[in-house]
Amino acid sequence: MSVNAVVNEMTKEQQKEQESLNLFYSTQTVIQKALAKLGYQNEMFDLLKEPLRLLTVRIPVRMDDGSVKVFTGYRSQHNDAVGPTKGGVRFHPEVNEEEVKALSIWMSLKCGITNLPYGGGKGGIICDPRKMSFRELERLSRGYVRAISQIVGPTKDIPAPDVYTNSQIMAWMMDEYSRLREFDSPGFITGKPIVLGGSQGRETATARGVTICIEEAVKKKGIELQGARVVIQGFGNAGSYLAKFMHDAGAKVIAVSDVYGGVHDPNGLDIDYLLDRRDSFGTFSQLFKETITNKELLELECDILVPAAISNQITAENAANIKAAIVVEAANGPTTLEATNILTERGVLLVPDILASAGGVTVSYFEWVQNNQGYYWTEEEVAEKLKKVMVDSFEKIYRTAQEYQVDMRLAAYMTGIRKMAEAAQFRGWV
Ligand code: NAD
Repeated sequence: MSVNAVVNEMTKEQQKEQESLNLFYSTQTVIQKALAKLGYQNEMFDLLKEPLRLLTVRIPVRMDDGSVKVFTGYRSQHNDAVGPTKGGVRFHPEVNEEEVKALSIWMSLKCGITNLPYGGGKGGIICDPRKMSFRELERLSRGYVRAISQIVGPTKDIPAPDVYTNSQIMAWMMDEYSRLREFDSPGFITGKPIVLGGSQGRETATARGVTICIEEAVKKKGIELQGARVVIQGFGNAGSYLAKFMHDAGAKVIAVSDVYGGVHDPNGLDIDYLLDRRDSFGTFSQLFKETITNKELLELECDILVPAAISNQITAENAANIKAAIVVEAANGPTTLEATNILTERGVLLVPDILASAGGVTVSYFEWVQNNQGYYWTEEEVAEKLKKVMVDSFEKIYRTAQEYQVDMRLAAYMTGIRKMAEAAQFRGWV
């Protein structure tokens, strides 16, 4: 690698770390506001502003060429006052400590909003799974479980899939944990293949949750979903299933994108065609000659905009140009706090990430319950239970926003933090 390339690489990592730090600080800012609105003293903020536990591990992995590579991984447990912690494991070259910490706090908030008996956790490994073989990924997944095994378990901290991890990786991790403990432990991890105790409906859960939020949001805005123009940034697990559900509900999905760019048709896209063409990383746009940039996509004329890719997409720079009446955050942290204020002032209904993307952890909880009781539900039962949780959560936050005259994000934080604060108080921690 040339010196310039090294410098560019470092700059990219540093930029990402700075971004994660900003996300972490803005999360703390909103938590502080939420606790103050709920009447808590500063001590409670001091407890909840940081994870209780953060483990950094080094994982040696024998690569296919015989060499050994040592990977760095993390597991963050935000707060276990309510119950065991829960949250995904991310495999990505840009994973860093601040990001894992912030994501674990968001998991706590999501569990609080949906009233699950968990606190938030999150894990990650700095690696690029796109450049690793199947067997290398298996050895890395098993090594990670061995490294964190002391602090995780079905009643301690329950991992799940996240960016670039899937049901196969969950299966390896479950198998490794079961071998270490010497008994079958399906409840150790969620997002498993169905034959190993996975839940029906887990794969589509996040997109279903987002769909339910959209259904509730259009009612509040007096917009008919049938024929509504929808724009979705990102065409991976969350974005692609969402496009399908929106299409099936009669909405017009007029633009979708991946990391390279997007496609746009004001008359509505052929979603089934795009689903057929996308690869396992959610990319498809390189197959098209005429594409638009992700920046252009966000500013398209539409009724509903769903950022379903990465963080920091709607900022103070473009918030005034967003034309949608409703923005539903399927991705984690796609809108900055400044942009949230701009959108709210302009009367845009913003459904925040910790509510909109809570379908995934909710069905993960259903999976854990089914594993613990050894009795499995049908897809219809899962969908019905998820609908109830999401509709109740949306209503709770919408009402809180009205009652306290705050934006939906602050209302979501207030709803999410309340249960944890009460639990910590009853336990005598504060
Ligand atoms: P994914 O990896 O399956 O897909 C990501 C999509 O975003 C791909 O289409 C990719 O090409 C695109 N993308 C990547 N970088 C981009 C960029 N710079 N600009 C535009 N598009 C880009 O991921 P996913 O599981 O669909 O998750 C998407 C978002 O939703 C993430 O923020 C994730 O944290 C959040 N989320 C996902 C789940 C879930 O269950 N999948 C649950 C909660 C939150």
